[in-house]
Amino acid sequence: MSSISFLNQVDRMFAKAAGHTNHPEGLLKQIRICNSMYKMEFPLKKDDGSIEVIQAWRAEHSHHKLPTKGGIRFADNVNEDEVAALATLMTYKCAIVNVPFGGAKGGIKINRKNYSEGEIERITRRYTYELVSKSFIGPGIDVPAPDYGTGPKEMAWIVDTYRSLTNDPLTAAACVTGKPVTLGGVRGRTEATGLGTYYGIREACSIEDDMKKLGLKTGLADKTVIVQGLGNVGYHAAKFMQEGGATIVALAEYEGAIHNPKGLDLEAVVAHRKKTGSILNFPGATNITDSAKALELQCDILIPAALESVITAENAPNIKAKIIGEAANGPVTADADAILLAKGVMIIPDVFLNAGGVTVSYFEWLKNLSHVRFGRMSKRFEQASNERIVSAMAKAVGIDIPPVELANVTAGADEIDLVKSGLEETMATSYTEIRNIAVAKNTDLRTAAFINAIDKVAVSYGEMGIFP
Ligand code: NAD
Repeated sequence: MSSISFLNQVDRMFAKAAGHTNHPEGLLKQIRICNSMYKMEFPLKKDDGSIEVIQAWRAEHSHHKLPTKGGIRFADNVNEDEVAALATLMTYKCAIVNVPFGGAKGGIKINRKNYSEGEIERITRRYTYELVSKSFIGPGIDVPAPDYGTGPKEMAWIVDTYRSLTNDPLTAAACVTGKPVTLGGVRGRTEATGLGTYYGIREACSIEDDMKKLGLKTGLADKTVIVQGLGNVGYHAAKFMQEGGATIVALAEYEGAIHNPKGLDLEAVVAHRKKTGSILNFPGATNITDSAKALELQCDILIPAALESVITAENAPNIKAKIIGEAANGPVTADADAILLAKGVMIIPDVFLNAGGVTVSYFEWLKNLSHVRFGRMSKRFEQASNERIVSAMAKAVGIDIPPVELANVTAGADEIDLVKSGLEETMATSYTEIRNIAVAKNTDLRTAAFINAIDKVAVSYGEMGIFP
């Protein structure tokens, strides 16, 4: 672990980027600081009748756009500094992918493995109650989402608690995203961050000049990949990378890592872990008991998708990957960043690469406010128009198209198709924006991403007349 706090790491990255802009000092300070931090301590009545005091936080980093947005993590090492740092990254992330929100983050200091489901539910509902009572949640105020250690079930408890405490029947569903689809969630949210990670890496790997500099060919087909963390983000990132043609050569979890230079079949590893409780001892693979050592194995692309500060000044010199795709938040410390850049490693930064989650959360929020499933109004219309065009063309050239094929080529877009296509468009466009800045300013992708974010937030403050 680095001795410099996570928030300091983020601030150092901000300062590096701010140096490339001409914004006044006061404006830069306003963009950098965390606007509000709510620290709470509340009681949990445990199943055995005892009382435990739970510590938790919600940070709203920037109110330049509302609502603020950011996940809630359950982790026993979460602290105020980390929550503020993650909220800060959310502000920049939203700006980079043009999602009209400020940044926020929540944290509850628990190791969820030590609590029963009933206890987790009581913690989640009480946390929501605290947020409601201090106006730290609401469709137009602050909209949480899943993060490390939380998922659709917690989001369902949050929306249910919010609804029961507020008189907001029309928009209540938009108070949180990442909900189950049956409770107003959007199709594609679960896999969004991993899919966005894949789209982002694929985009980076499609640029010949950049790949040439790394001694690599374009595309994913010949690339070897290591993924750390097989949770929501890591699993989906690995899945889409594998489906996109890359070879997964190592997977790392908290219990250890497995390595096979010839490739690991992700689904077989997941099935093995389900059966045995561990990824270790997977047939054909070598066990690595010190899981973190897997980050130092030979590969083209390293995807840390677990926690922050896993690549530090200590292990950065040993990293052999040519590309690091930051699926987790803050996996590379500022010192490690400098070492890796000096070695010529391409780092695709978290503020861009894992923005798929918030992008699709934005789609979910829009769906909740409009009360209509994406594609519902257009799917049949699109299909009928397509059929008319294809049939007319087939008639003109004198061919018969079998009904099954006709149905395939003319199908209208469903919610999942629209969500994926919106995400793909977002990741591709944002990557181009960042890369163009990196080329123009002769800087790395993270600095370029931060410059992009700072400029966009500065414009919002300018439009409010707060700064010239
Ligand atoms: P998750 O809880 O679903 O998964 C995390 C995984 O990491 C777990 O499987 C856990 O066992 C594993 N892990 C923990 N310590 C480890 C270690 N030392 N070595 C290897 N593996 C370890 O969480 P998630 O939602 O996948 O989030 C992962 C990261 O992605 C976090 O940094 C989070 O902030 C970031 N992120 C998540 C989302 C999202 O939509 N879920 C969006 C943006 C960013």
